[in-house]
Amino acid sequence: MGECLCDEMAESMAERVIQLRDLLLASGGRTCQVDSLLVVAGKVYLLEIKNWEGSFEIVDGRFVGLSACPLAQLQRSKTIVEHLLRRYGFRVEVEARLLFINPKISLYGLTRQEPVLLRHQVEPYFGSVGEGSFWDQWDRKIGEFLLQQHVPENRFANPVVYDPGTVQCGVMCSGCRVRMRPYDLLRLECPTCGTKE
Ligand SMILES: [Zn+2]
Repeated sequence: MGECLCDEMAESMAERVIQLRDLLLASGGRTCQVDSLLVVAGKVYLLEIKNWEGSFEIVDGRFVGLSACPLAQLQRSKTIVEHLLRRYGFRVEVEARLLFINPKISLYGLTRQEPVLLRHQVEPYFGSVGEGSFWDQWDRKIGEFLLQQHVPENRFANPVVYDPGTVQCGVMCSGCRVRMRPYDLLRLECPTCGTKE
């Protein structure tokens, strides 16, 4: 719901900003799910959208009493995206924001330091993204790169299925794909071609 509402509000900038949604990105063995990612004027905007309702408290930049602090998660996602871009030579600034889209939320202890936007701040924020500029070829290149980095979910969701009765453990010969047998204390030997490893 939050994401749909957010899409409606993003309508005003639909033409001028490259928008990517629901990306699963990975860098350095860590993965993150990104709700919404905008690219314009050589800058990447990473948006995490929450439809939370109720009262919450923030102390020292952390949500009190939540095992998974959304601010910590946002920072983690930002770091992953930054690493990914840098690793492939994109010198691009990443701005991350946590959007609370439900008006029925109270955030006690919220300061200007937190990268948080409340419902009434979202539309003005979208208006300010890229300071009104339109995307160009460089933005498109960044967007296409990030889209290419998207990891299909099932790569992690479906583990390899195998039947222990039909597999054997051991080291195979790289040439014959046959299981190697012990040769001496330090080496294995292929029974077919005699290669030692
Ligand atoms: Zn062999």
